[in-house]
Order: sequence, then structure tokens, then C-alpha cells
Amino acid sequence: MTEHSLAVSGTDNRFTHIPPRLAGLADLAYNLWWSWHPEARILFKQLNQLAWKASVHNPVRMLRDTPQEFFLAAENNEEYLRRYDIIMNRFRRYMNTTSGWFREEYPGSRTLTIAYFSAEYGLHHSLPMYAGGLGFLAGDYLKECSDLGVPIVAVGFMYSEGYLHQHILPDGWQEGIQETLDRDAAPVKRVLNDEGEQLVVQVPHIEPPIFVAVWRVDVGKVPLYLLDTDIPLNDEENRRISSNLYTSDQEERLRQEIVLGIGGRKVLHEMGILYSSVHLNEGHPAFALLERIRERVERGISFPDALNQVRVTSLFTTHTPVAAGHDAFPPELVDRYFSCYYPALGITRGEFLGLGTHPDYPESGFNMTVLAMRLSSYHNAVSQRHGEVTRQMWKNLWPDLTQDRVPIDAITNGVHLPTWLNPRVEDLLDTYFYPVTPNWQQEHDDPGIWNLVDEIPDGKLWDLHFDLKIKLINRMRERIRIKWAKKQEDPLSLAAAGLLLNPSILTLGFARRFATYKRSDLIFYDMERLKRIVCNRWRPVQIIFAGKAHPSDYEGKRILQKIYQLAQQPEFEGRIAFVEDYSEQTAQYLVHGVDVWLNNPMPPLEASGTSGMKAAMNGVINLSIPDGWWLEGYNGKNGWSFANTTAGNDRDTADACALYDILEREVVPLYYSASLDGIPHGWVKMMKESIKSNAPRFSARRMVKEYVSRYYPQLVTGADVAYACVLRR
Ligand SMILES: *Cc1c(COP(=O)(O)O)cnc(C)c1O
Repeated sequence: MTEHSLAVSGTDNRFTHIPPRLAGLADLAYNLWWSWHPEARILFKQLNQLAWKASVHNPVRMLRDTPQEFFLAAENNEEYLRRYDIIMNRFRRYMNTTSGWFREEYPGSRTLTIAYFSAEYGLHHSLPMYAGGLGFLAGDYLKECSDLGVPIVAVGFMYSEGYLHQHILPDGWQEGIQETLDRDAAPVKRVLNDEGEQLVVQVPHIEPPIFVAVWRVDVGKVPLYLLDTDIPLNDEENRRISSNLYTSDQEERLRQEIVLGIGGRKVLHEMGILYSSVHLNEGHPAFALLERIRERVERGISFPDALNQVRVTSLFTTHTPVAAGHDAFPPELVDRYFSCYYPALGITRGEFLGLGTHPDYPESGFNMTVLAMRLSSYHNAVSQRHGEVTRQMWKNLWPDLTQDRVPIDAITNGVHLPTWLNPRVEDLLDTYFYPVTPNWQQEHDDPGIWNLVDEIPDGKLWDLHFDLKIKLINRMRERIRIKWAKKQEDPLSLAAAGLLLNPSILTLGFARRFATYKRSDLIFYDMERLKRIVCNRWRPVQIIFAGKAHPSDYEGKRILQKIYQLAQQPEFEGRIAFVEDYSEQTAQYLVHGVDVWLNNPMPPLEASGTSGMKAAMNGVINLSIPDGWWLEGYNGKNGWSFANTTAGNDRDTADACALYDILEREVVPLYYSASLDGIPHGWVKMMKESIKSNAPRFSARRMVKEYVSRYYPQLVTGADVAYACVLRR
């Protein structure tokens, strides 16, 4: 992988209490490999169960806080040592192996690294640096690249106050509680310079100057470098640049994107990391491509040639058709930071602004998606439908081409299976897969293997699913108990938090950001009809909601409040619940433990959606509007697709009615159709269909292989041409 001379610190004097025999624990703690290997997590858990829990599953914090006597006990425990040795061996083997899918597939190719830029990464709850789907996609992408041996290096932000814990007031209003990240207790390390101090880099050609310090997260074999502006060298205003994810202050947002793109490019350069091409995850880091051009211009290459070299080695993935997802800045603001940059590129102000101007909406400002499209040759959307929508949206950037020739491809998203498949579900699958294909975990994107799901006895799958539902409900109750013990909550809030849930009852889950297009409150459209479904005496239904509204999204907060208040109403008999603080951890419980995953966005605004994929592979059945990934996933027997498309303009009415109809006629009866043995065989059949049809196709493994095979050879060829051009100069 990437070689560079810089040292990394982390395992310093905080860990002197760990005896040498167990010193590997500190190495393991600093590599998120443990987050997708349950056997490694158990190693930490076994050492000190309460500290593991108290650290919220953060091994760095846990090792730091665990007294020496626990290590000494483990050192004398033969069983512990046996496991420790096996797992450390497995970890070291994983890290040192250079073979794997990528090497086998591209044996002769130059393995020049790809630099991956993203504004957020959802990796694990001990590193809260994400807002939602875009971040989890990026996190899963890195984990899968590591598993497949794809050479990639990633760049992102260290958000010091990035994470907003959600607290809901008794009246249902969302309050944000900001968590300041304790960098020294998180699985991140400082990148050090030759003097042994943390590496700090100045963002080039930007006035007034901005400095960034560099951190490193190890995601298996993939290094992720995080930029941090909260250092004394910066003035107060600059220190705040990386404090919050997606600030709504436009100028601060521009400064963030400057740091991420230009600063990020510079950081890789300073570290001597060679890479051949760039993959932009969404438009936020698009300035990275400008910086690549500027460096070439500095070496004497003309702007048009430099632009060409950068274009043929750049890939841009766009993630949303929602307008607010595409940042645009007024020209005056761009001038404020880039006036020194225009001459460095060798172009005029007008030419520069032209790069980010949409021909149809010149007045809308300097658009980061337009910039990213213009500076890269390869573009993709994240589902087939999103591809169509995206070509339509941006077709006028290519006025000479007809819409079907617009150069925007589609690669449908996928999720990292080892991260999202519940370990107990994996064990059950293994019992039936292993005898036939011992290597199934390595080949889990092969759909054929998954037909073995049919060999699992219905009762086994059903019992396990029921256990996971109980686990979810127990977890919600434990949170309620803690609230109760703090005497902060009134009984209505406890009911709304899920105190009265019953694991025997058909349980729908709806966990999403409270963005308006997701229509979180659609199911409340006809309150009386919903009440009849939920409070049916013989066949009741319960619904668990979770999700956050962006702190400045008043409308989102209002919808959340409405749902929370309804959850408190005795008319719904305690069958509607809201789980506070939707996080990676909460998501794990929900996508493993509910019966049905509900999704009802306003089409075609859900570019892909990924939470439904996580649910599907665990046997949680999707009930979704045909939009995003579900247009490809639904096969008539692995879940339900509902919408009334004949309804004309009033989609809300039509879709809500279609939802009630399908619940009453299909979902509820199927769930409650248990036979004499107490097992709803029809339901379990659909669970199996959901697992086997979706898990291989919507895995990150299939996705990463598609990115690599579709773009990598061209990007590397482009790089060769570009380097040849550089050498000729
Ligand atoms: C998977 C995930 C998301 C994205 O889910 P969507 O279906 O795209 O809404 C958001 N938040 C968390 C915590 C997740 O795990």
C-alpha cells in the first residue's frame, strides 16, 4: 500500500499499563478492523465487560480506563491467551497479505493508489463523524476496499464538535446536545513530522492563511487522513472551520470545502503519497481537482492541458437529486478566497467562475456539482433510476449530446456485509453454507450461494429473528429505565420512548433523517385509519421511529415533534415509539430487530437508500415505495412495493392510501398467519427470499468490484498518459 516516511503516534504512554504479552491489544484498538470482526470485539469485551460497555464500545478509551489488574488477570488466563493469539494472528495476516481479489484480477496492472475524498465517513459509533447515508456509504466503501485489497487512500475531516446527540424535550421538540470529540480517546492517531510533532500543512494560495493538522484512522488496510483546523496556529474563526458537519453558514461551508479539497490534496502531497487518480464522493471536495490542475500549471503545463490530464484521471459520484444537496456559492464569496488562486491557475476570474456555472441557472452561483462534472471525465449516480434522473438534471452541461448519451453512469450502492449482518444471523447462515461452500464469506457477492438459505429450517430463522426483536426492545427499555432513574421524564415520554412495546406484535421500523422528501409522517395521513390498523384488537401493529432533523431544518423538527406527540397519545395505546439519537449503534439494533422496514420517500428523490439493504440481509422485510434501490431490489416475492401512480398530483393522499391498503390486505395477515407449530411459515418464506435475493446484490463487495472494473483500468491508463505528458515537459 501507500508508503511514506511519516510516523504515526497513538500507542504512547497511555498504554504503559498493558503488559508486553498483550501489547497487541493496543495495535488492534487503533485499527477499525475490530469493528467488523466480532471475534476481535469479544477480545476487548472479555477483558473488562463493564468498561467495554461504559466506553460505548471504543477499545481505545476502554484500554486506557481499564486498571492494570485486569490485564494481569488476562495474562494468567490460558483461555484468554489462546484466543488472543489466534485473533492477533488473524489480524496480522489480514494486514500483511497482499493477495486478494484485486491482485488476482489485476495482476499486471500498476497499482497506483486512488485518492478518495469525502466530507463524512460513517465507520463506527466511536468515531462520530457522519450525518447519514453519504457517510455510511463512504465508510462501507473503505472497509470493502480493504477487504478486497483495492489500493486506496482516503481524506476527510476531523469534526471536533461534529456530533449532535439528539435529545427530545417533553413537548417533542428536538434539542441538540453537542458532543466534543475527545481525540485522545478515539481510535485516531496523530500523523507526525520528522521532528516528532503533529504534521501541520498550510492550505496553498488561500488568503487569509489556513492551517490544518493531520490525523490518521486505520480502516483495515486503508488509511483515512483527517484534517483538523482546531489548532492554536489558526485564529478563532479558522479553528471553527472543521468543528461542525454541514454548517448552514454559507461562508463557513465554503471554507470547509476549501480545506477539504485544496488542503486535502496538499496533505497527501506533503506526505509523499503517490496516487494516480481521484474519486470524489459528492461535490463537497471538488476543489481537490482544482488543486491538481494548479500543481501542473505551476510546473509549466498550460491550463487546458492540465485540465485534460486531471479530467481523465478523475471520477465523480453524485448522490442526490435534491437541490439543497448541491452547494452553490455567490461569486463575491468565491472572490473573497480565490482571488490569489485565479492567477495561480493561469486563468481569469471570469473563466474560473465559468467552471462552476450552470448554463441554465447562471444566477444560482458557483456550483460544486457543476465544477466536479466539468473537471472529471467519469461520473456516476448511485442507482439505475438515479442515473436517469441525474442525466436529466445535468444534461445541459453537455448541450451537444442527447439525454441518453449524457456521460453519467450508474452504480447502485451496496452495504458492507460484515458490518451490517448480525453476527448471530451470520452464524446461522454459516451452519448451512459452510458444508457446501466453506469460503462463502469471501464470495458473498455470488448470488448462487445464497440459495442455501432455503435449507435453514423455518423455526431456526424465526426464533433467531424473535430473539433479535427482543434484544432491540430490551435495549429501548434499558434506556427508558436510565431516564426514569434520573427522574427527568414524565410517564408520557416513557411511553413514547417505547416502554409499552411487545415483541409478539408486528413491528414496523422507520429510521431516517427527517428531511422533508422522506415524508416521515406519511403513515399519519389518515389518523383514524392508522388507529384502526395499529390498535386492532386481534392483529395489532407497532411502529418504531428514529431519526434526526438537521439543526437548522425547522420543518424537519416540526414533523419530528408531530410524531413524538402522537406517540404520547393514549389513543395509540403505546404502540408508537420514538427512539432518540439515531446513531450507527441504534441503526444496528433496528435493522436486525424489527419485522418490516418502511420507506416512503417522494419519488424520485431517494437516490438509492441503504438502510433497507441492511435490513434485507438480516431477514427484515422491506415495505417501500418503488424508488432508489428498491426499483432494482423488489422481485415480487421478497417484500412489498406500494404506490398509487395513477393519482395525479396528490401523491401524499394516494401513497398513504396505498400504504394502508397493503398493510391491511397483505402485511398484517401474512404476519399473523402462524400455523399449529406457532411459526408464520409464509412470513419466514418472504424473510428468506429477502435475504437471498438482496444480500449478494446489494453488498458493498458487488459495488466496489463494479467501481473498480468499470473505472479503474481507464483511470490508470489516463494516469499513464497524464504522467507521460508531465515527463515530456
Ligand atoms: C444506513 C444509515 C443511514 C442511511 O440510510 P438511508 O436508507 O439512506 O436513509 C443513515 N443513518 C444511519 C445511522 C445508517 O446506519
